[in-house]
Amino acid sequence: MYQLSKDQVIYAMSSANPPVLTVAPNSRIEFETCDALSGQITSETDRFDALDWNKINPATGPVYVTGAEPGDILSVKIEQIEIADVGVTITGKSMGVLGHLFEENFIKVLPIEQNEAIFSEHIRLPLNKMVGVIGTAPKDGAISCGIPDLHGGNMDCKEIREGATILLPVNVPGGLLALGDLHAVMADGEICVSGVEVAGKVTVTVDVIKGKMLPLPMILTDTHVMALASHEDLDMAVDMAVANMAAYLCEEHSFPKSEAAMLLSLAGDVRICQVVDPKKTVRVELCKRYIA
Ligand code: CA
Repeated sequence: MYQLSKDQVIYAMSSANPPVLTVAPNSRIEFETCDALSGQITSETDRFDALDWNKINPATGPVYVTGAEPGDILSVKIEQIEIADVGVTITGKSMGVLGHLFEENFIKVLPIEQNEAIFSEHIRLPLNKMVGVIGTAPKDGAISCGIPDLHGGNMDCKEIREGATILLPVNVPGGLLALGDLHAVMADGEICVSGVEVAGKVTVTVDVIKGKMLPLPMILTDTHVMALASHEDLDMAVDMAVANMAAYLCEEHSFPKSEAAMLLSLAGDVRICQVVDPKKTVRVELCKRYIA
């Protein structure tokens, strides 16, 4: 298995980033990752004004996958997520949905024990370990690792978890996969701007799919297929994610448009991934049994 260290990070996805690793399709890679704050906050008395904001949202990579050419799809199966034994969550002035309530910033350090994050003496949250940032390089320019878009990026989707396969576009030769921003716990919405941000290691198997046009990014789990979309406007993100899933049903599974629309109305759950990043992310989930 290949290994990457948390020192091998990028802060923007770009074709200009030199690969730190080159692998063949069907390779297993362990990415060691920093938390989304690059480990700069470790105590509830740390000061926000001391933060280096140039070091937010690091992603480990990028990885060049041989044979991956523009137009192909990069398949990334999340085999395992290991996390540190402590995480942090933050909120404060102008941060997230409730940022108008605050004049100062707040930090909570959450110990992680026995598959739970300890929020308070009485509140212990079951872990839902997930990967916040995962993406490939866009065709042109650079996209900050804090922004989700067609290339993946900071989607903050809690379904990007162990066992899920993420399908991403290959926009440049090799794809240039990078990932990071693990969360020990996060709810749909991520309303205060953070999950339980945590360092860790992610083991994935990368592969290349050729000759297929899919509305990306997508997630495949044991039970569901999911289409994702991100936009500054949440209504637009909903419309785009639904259109993506409808296109998938029509093009991959030969549904007439009206059948796709009605099936999605009855069985396609529209869910919010996050509403606090520069673009908001929505996913549509459909149980695989309807398209088997
Ligand atoms: Ca994030």
